[in-house]
Amino acid sequence: MINLSADGLPPLRDIIAKHDLRAQKSLGQNFLLDLNLTGKIARQAGDLSAYDVLEIGPGPGGLTRALLHEGARHVVAIERDERCLPALVEIAEHYEGRLTVLSGDALALNPMEHLKGPIRVVANLPYNVGTELLVRWLTPDAWPPFWDSLTLMFQREVAQRIVAKPGSKAYGRLSILAGWRADAKIVMDLPPQAFTPAPKVSSAVVHITRCAKPKFECNPKTLERVVATAFGQRRKMLRASLKSLGPDIEDRLLSVGIEPTERAEQLTIQQFCALSNTFD
Ligand code: SAM
Repeated sequence: MINLSADGLPPLRDIIAKHDLRAQKSLGQNFLLDLNLTGKIARQAGDLSAYDVLEIGPGPGGLTRALLHEGARHVVAIERDERCLPALVEIAEHYEGRLTVLSGDALALNPMEHLKGPIRVVANLPYNVGTELLVRWLTPDAWPPFWDSLTLMFQREVAQRIVAKPGSKAYGRLSILAGWRADAKIVMDLPPQAFTPAPKVSSAVVHITRCAKPKFECNPKTLERVVATAFGQRRKMLRASLKSLGPDIEDRLLSVGIEPTERAEQLTIQQFCALSNTFD
């Protein structure tokens, strides 16, 4: 007798054996095989029935299946590893018309023509491209972005950087990019054993919801430049770390009420915006 999971498809272990999907380290492959767990992650993204979902790196499809089982209107999944495609086609056939699989590199492909708004992004990201994709999603040319929310798995350390507040060691560029025009929180922690194979580090799911407009007015390019320069030498005082922005940097800092002897990690997002505005 064929053993089926609650969604009517074979268990992920059987799919992996059938298609010989041994995890490849070079592709950041650490699979989630427990459909109860992927269901829990999918539910962190909220009610998906009115949403198209963009998923990056579906692999053998554990999270993809959960998203569809939980009711996502349509899932567009980008997978680089061609070995996974037959397994994903089986899911697409099971959920007729609700899964589109794009084969290729998520950093190079543009999935927008396959997606209809409103859109949520949900992914157990490959660690090697996760931060790069997050920064792209947080820094589009225009705001609001194409997505309403991002529900993403990261190494716990990266997740902590995304949600960090001023004054903490984890606070930096990612915290400011995420906190300026969106709200980010850690919604789940996962031990290494949740994955197959188990990675060396713990993971966490971050849920990011976009604000309709930035919390403080500011030119995004200038803000990025100021933040990157300040955190490039985060241990130094601002008057030293920001010196390359101009000889009058101390005056600029004082003009918006920031002590030049402070360090980057002490400044709030509002202060970074105020400082950036002195350049525009
Ligand atoms: N979502 C699956 C799960 O939860 O079990 C797999 C997660 S695994 C951490 C990351 C997946 O991303 C792998 O399937 C890998 O092949 C894929 N991947 C790696 N680099 C990619 C890229 N640049 N574009 C698209 N997919 C990529």
